[in-house]
Amino acid sequence: MRAWAVGRPGPVDGGPLDPVERERPEPGPGQVRVRVSVCGVCRTDLHLAEGDLAPRRPGVVPGHEVVGRVDRVGPGCTLLAEGDRIGIPWLARTCGTCRFCLDGRENLCLDPRFTGWDVDGGYAEYAVVGERFAYPLPDGLSDVETAPLLCAGIIGFRALQRAELPPGGVLGIYGFGGSAHLTAQIALAEGATVHVMTRSREARDLALALGASSAQGADDPPPEPLDAAVLFAPVGTLVPPALQALDRGGTLAIAGIHLSDVPALDYQRHLFEERTLRSVTANTRADGVAFLERAAAIGIRVSAVPYPFAQADRALADLAHDRVDGAAVLVVEGG
Ligand SMILES: [Zn+2]
Ligand SMILES: [Zn+2]
Repeated sequence: MRAWAVGRPGPVDGGPLDPVERERPEPGPGQVRVRVSVCGVCRTDLHLAEGDLAPRRPGVVPGHEVVGRVDRVGPGCTLLAEGDRIGIPWLARTCGTCRFCLDGRENLCLDPRFTGWDVDGGYAEYAVVGERFAYPLPDGLSDVETAPLLCAGIIGFRALQRAELPPGGVLGIYGFGGSAHLTAQIALAEGATVHVMTRSREARDLALALGASSAQGADDPPPEPLDAAVLFAPVGTLVPPALQALDRGGTLAIAGIHLSDVPALDYQRHLFEERTLRSVTANTRADGVAFLERAAAIGIRVSAVPYPFAQADRALADLAHDRVDGAAVLVVEGG
């Protein structure tokens, strides 16, 4: 099969991805093999290709927003069958036995495996996945529109839960890219008032078009106190203004896997009156299932940009240089 592998991690313009020929993977016990239709291109793939994320396996195939159909079922599978349309996400496996797995917080598992980092992902014609970690996909969205939901969408959804927005509350969103524009739609559908803070004029226009009540500059104060806020921009200097924008008792959740340094906080202005600051780490399978159901139910709108499979390296370079207006998605089957 054709695939892309991380040859030598390094700057994206030096071409860290190599087109390779590999044997089709065979599904082991409890696994299924997927004929890949599309695979989303996530910023984490870029971190991996450039070596910001230390490689865990030489020549790994990246890609963890995989949509396709099951074409072979391994021994002992009971949940999926040939022909099922499924998604393969970032979380490839958890141990199932550590204290976090046992109490419903498998996102904090002490021995997890990740798709496209520990195990080969979806920049390939075929991929395998443990059937318990794959998501059956709702109808109604095309493969290209579905792919970005599998990472950007699920993480944003978890961040929204972590921000503990009360019903009908006021939500602030800092940064408005792939993950934020999906999260905003979930919050709006639940009756929230949404204010968006972002430096990009196009992003502010998109926010207003989706139903946000206001859109202003990245560290501008919102027009009213926030019950909850989510920081999507990986910019630590936004933490103080976001905390200051919270109402008493409000919560700020930081959605990113990376954040630049947070400046010194002023206890009185930023934290007193029971303001809370929280991080978000990966997601549980329950988050994924709940988000995909909600996304389908509200008819979520996804702004996706398809790339032919042969141009995975270009898709990654475009992402690095902010040349993608929406979520980049590799079209693998027939691409
Ligand atoms: Zn565990
Ligand atoms: Zn991702």
